[in-house]
Amino acid sequence: MTQSGRGFERNDQGSATFGGVELQRLLAKSRCSTPVYFYDLSGIESQVRSLSEAFGSASHLIAYAVKANSSASVIRTITEAGAGVDAVSGGELMLARHLGVPSRKIVLSGVAKRDDEIDLALAEDLLALQCESVGELSRVAERAKLQGTRARVSIRINPSVEIDSHSHIATGHDAAKFGTALRDLPVAFSLIAERSTHLSLVGMSTHVGSMLKKPNAYLDSARAVCVCARDALTQGHHLEYVDFGGGFGIDYGDGPAAPPAQFATQALALLNEEGLGNLKLVVEPGRSLVGAFGILVSKVIQEKSSGQRRWLMIDAGMNDLLRPALYQASHRIEDIDVPPGTTEYQVVGPVCESTDDFGPHSFSRIPSYVVLRDAGVYAFTMASEYNARPLPAEVFVKGGVIVHENPSPGVNAWVESRLRA
Ligand code: PLP
Repeated sequence: MTQSGRGFERNDQGSATFGGVELQRLLAKSRCSTPVYFYDLSGIESQVRSLSEAFGSASHLIAYAVKANSSASVIRTITEAGAGVDAVSGGELMLARHLGVPSRKIVLSGVAKRDDEIDLALAEDLLALQCESVGELSRVAERAKLQGTRARVSIRINPSVEIDSHSHIATGHDAAKFGTALRDLPVAFSLIAERSTHLSLVGMSTHVGSMLKKPNAYLDSARAVCVCARDALTQGHHLEYVDFGGGFGIDYGDGPAAPPAQFATQALALLNEEGLGNLKLVVEPGRSLVGAFGILVSKVIQEKSSGQRRWLMIDAGMNDLLRPALYQASHRIEDIDVPPGTTEYQVVGPVCESTDDFGPHSFSRIPSYVVLRDAGVYAFTMASEYNARPLPAEVFVKGGVIVHENPSPGVNAWVESRLRA
């Protein structure tokens, strides 16, 4: 992120800076060894505030998708700036409540909620349980009956919208497991009316996928939500909100994305055009609030060449940053001390898998440390201990100063945990 935001930049000498401070200085000050994630909390905060400002005085909720980055420091930064939370599991819901996020600022999404997760959501009296099928609505009604309560629910629709994104992160098309098909809505509405002692329809929602660079597909799916919301209102349901989901993209080095504020402004305009301006507008961004404000720093273990092939082997692997192996995602990887050069190396990690490969990147020399850029989201939250590699460390920076560190549990802790198994 450059210009206003901070995160990763380069100074006049070409050295990497993070949150406005030389990265080498931060590394030297930190107690954590590589591989280590750094997050710029000030950058994250200003990103949330600029999205929030785009809503002006309109009733809205930014429900941060915790799955993107669930560190307490990050969630606190975002929610203290006024946002709520979109949780997709009982664990995420519990974490948000432990961090003091008010219940009515939390929605519980997720395609197959377990009974205990539904019970927890009912006990917490959230803004809503976002139900993804008629079957789930019916299960929620049963759980609410058992608890002697009335569940606040929304229907997450599948608007049948194709997006220009990797197939693994597109969720609003006909073949996706997510959401209630539009053809099933009449049954869903009748079920809620029949079980009105235990179900109250308070919202209509969707989420069509991730990495939207422009608002077009977002607005198409939002329009579908508005049509369904009007149907629900006509049938006498007392809707409080519509939720257009998250999915705002970021620039991974492949071209700029429309800023979250632009999605918000256009979504708000659409809501008013559709005659629903009296409803609260909920959005569920994850990536766009944090992605560019996180980096993964890794030490170069060695270089290896064979014929024309050149590899740079680093101490971060696919267990630390899974996105390239999972989605063929590409993260810019750069020498910390100098800007990219012209000699191409295939950057790979130490994990015993061919997919532990971060792709080709260009350097002007063999670096000592590299930075994997835009690694704030779907990064640490997807990390694993595969190959007996302990989880990576995390360092949180605010105003250019390290305010918190979460060191790696280390290999001894891993060995002890497996000895107990
Ligand atoms: N809402 C739901 C239901 C999701 O599944 C996701 C992530 O896929 C998001 C919101 C956040 O998406 P993004 O991080 O692309 O904004």
